Amino acid sequence: MSDAKAIADRLTKVRRLNALLTPSKDLRKSLTAQAAAARPTGVLYGMPVAVKDNICTLEFTTSCGSRILEGYRSPYEATAVAKLKAAGALIAGKTNCDEFAMGSSTEHSAYGRVIHPLDKARVPGGSSGGSAALVGSGAIPAALGSETGGSVRQPASFCGVVGIKPTYGRVSRYGLVAFGSSLDQIGVFGRSVHDAARVLSVISGRDPRDSTCEDRDPLRLPTVPESLQGFVIGLPREYFPPELDPGVRRACERAVRFLKEQGAAIREVSLPHTAYAVPTYYVLAPAEASSNLARYDGVRYGPRFNGAADLRSLYRSTRGQGFGPEVRRRILVGTYVLSAGYYDAYYRRAQQMRALIAQDFRNVFDRGVDLLFTPTTPTPAFKAGEKLGDPIAMYLSDIFTVTANLAGLPAMTLPIGRVKGLPIGGQLIGQAFLEDEMIEAAYALERVVPATDEA
Ligand code: GLN
Repeated sequence: MSDAKAIADRLTKVRRLNALLTPSKDLRKSLTAQAAAARPTGVLYGMPVAVKDNICTLEFTTSCGSRILEGYRSPYEATAVAKLKAAGALIAGKTNCDEFAMGSSTEHSAYGRVIHPLDKARVPGGSSGGSAALVGSGAIPAALGSETGGSVRQPASFCGVVGIKPTYGRVSRYGLVAFGSSLDQIGVFGRSVHDAARVLSVISGRDPRDSTCEDRDPLRLPTVPESLQGFVIGLPREYFPPELDPGVRRACERAVRFLKEQGAAIREVSLPHTAYAVPTYYVLAPAEASSNLARYDGVRYGPRFNGAADLRSLYRSTRGQGFGPEVRRRILVGTYVLSAGYYDAYYRRAQQMRALIAQDFRNVFDRGVDLLFTPTTPTPAFKAGEKLGDPIAMYLSDIFTVTANLAGLPAMTLPIGRVKGLPIGGQLIGQAFLEDEMIEAAYALERVVPATDEA
């Protein structure tokens, strides 16, 4: 894998997916330079890792899938990227994503939609759809994405790969372009649990440049367990509603049988505030986004859209032409819920609900449950255009993933089977900073579940 040219060729072969925003020529040149500089003793020596376009890199532009940052080159790189390079990895270009990570299908990218690697009529999920599609296509073993409400797990599930969202504070957010700062975490895609876990372990750990990053050592990689004897795995009943896609249900039931056969004790549990997670998320995330995105004004970053007579019209033309419709919708919603007259009705209540959702998880974990198992998404990958005109339908595809972000918990998805040829993901949700237990259970399940067979 250390051959820069071979890596570039493999990525060029999957150009039709529109997963990579970096032009082939720049990629080839940079990979050659990086390979010459990579540390041969690093634990990821020669491993190509593609990076979502909302994570700052020195090698490539960082556009966040937006026109407002078209051609923007960051003067510094994200800590996660610096750690990858220090471990010998090669940054294999920037991946297409929903604009500012807002979306669930990668159709909200200003640079065109990403194609699902197995079915060109379908979406790869989002917002980190480019990273998921590249790993799903087999072109690279791992990639970075970002998670505010499921943007690693949902596309990983759609594309049949492993996706991990770490505990809030496990990985530095320095250099991750802010969307909802209290929810955002860099996450990892891998071809296998091991590939994802070892990349996560490299990027994790303290960073003096991010005060929300915990002062902890990097994650220690667990070994593959002999069995799951001693593990108590909860099945939250709210995640298996009657309207769940029958194929998703079948795949989950089969995975639960495998967990049991491996020795885990299975227990039905309840997380009673689950129904409020999506509305809570879609108040808090836009509120934070409206504040975070105020900085794109045509003065400090990216291109300036011309024709402005004064400062106010400069802002207006830059933001009006630079932001796409979903980003504008979120800024409007966020500004509305934070406005003086509505703060108590929306933002404050959403914060209160967030506390209750987090308490639900604590209650279950306090009663001896180690991990939760759920479907990652309510359906397999949907068709392009299917939800584009209906924002609420799009938001509902995050129904099983936003809870872990609201509660700050680690969660991951791994492929557990296929339905009519489309991958289905199973989700494990763990306790804060106990990624190692979650990864152990994933290793055990991965070993036995027929991930590419019909469920
Ligand atoms: N799909 C969700 C949203 O649109 C989550 C996005 C994310 O995790 N970045 O906000």
